[in-house]
Amino acid sequence: MFELKIIIDEDKCTGCGECREACPKGGKIWTIDRKTGKAAASNLEFCHQCIICASKCPEGAIRIIRDDNYEKGSENEENP
Ligand code: SF4
Ligand code: SF4
Repeated sequence: MFELKIIIDEDKCTGCGECREACPKGGKIWTIDRKTGKAAASNLEFCHQCIICASKCPEGAIRIIRDDNYEKGSENEENP
């Protein structure tokens, strides 16, 4: 197992919905917030890490981070 994170750069996201369109799990994972107009990803247990969403985002706003060392401890802490 590994920890998966989908990070959306809200400054870049235009709310175009390409991520939700492209994702095989679509609306199960992706929502576009009506108020902010920004994309959000949840229910990541459905995500199979295909990275299509990130590759399709026209703004390059999506980063997917896999931490393969998650179960081994915290030596692979993310340093933004
Ligand atoms: S494809 Fe990119 S810019 Fe478009 S809604 Fe998704 S995260 Fe935002
Ligand atoms: S990595 Fe694939 S399954 Fe996961 S949210 Fe992106 S498009 Fe959907």
